[in-house]
Amino acid sequence: MTEFTCTRCGKCCISLGRHMRITRSSSQFSHTLSVKVTGETRPVQVNPELRDLFLLKGAPAYEEGWCPFLRRTAEGMFVCTVYSSRPAICRSFRCCTMRILDREGRERGRVKGRHSLSTDDALLEKVWTVEIAPHSTIPDDEFFPLCQSILATRGYVCEIFDP
Ligand code: SF4
Ligand code: SF4
Repeated sequence: MTEFTCTRCGKCCISLGRHMRITRSSSQFSHTLSVKVTGETRPVQVNPELRDLFLLKGAPAYEEGWCPFLRRTAEGMFVCTVYSSRPAICRSFRCCTMRILDREGRERGRVKGRHSLSTDDALLEKVWTVEIAPHSTIPDDEFFPLCQSILATRGYVCEIFDP
């Protein structure tokens, strides 16, 4: 297992934006965040070191439709300004459960959850659909090793991320 490294591309928080609403504000840095998709309501505080960034409310630091707490830094990295108090859905989110590499170590595919393979490799796509997808309901601790052994027979290497 490998620890997942977030590249701070911001895609997850941008797509979650429509589900995140500020329902109450007790100060400019203390808010109640409501997560529409899970029903969670949570008090959040802007991290002190990110207050200046949070106050930037226009492009390129913030764009309409993003989570209200997401900001883009001057360097182009995406940052959650309420990271320390972010809601459960954000704490448990993993955008990728497994990377699939070829023998030379080049990435050939990425897996989201247990079902969703993203690849432009026709052989990998076929092996996944025919030999792996039918097993996608078995427990994780059996499923991922099974993927590993099936894909190894075709010359692929799996990098499985920690839960
Ligand atoms: S969790 Fe994934 S999608 Fe979200 S910022 Fe990190 S790398 Fe990007
Ligand atoms: S609260 Fe933070 S981690 Fe969650 S969607 Fe918003 S910016 Fe992303």
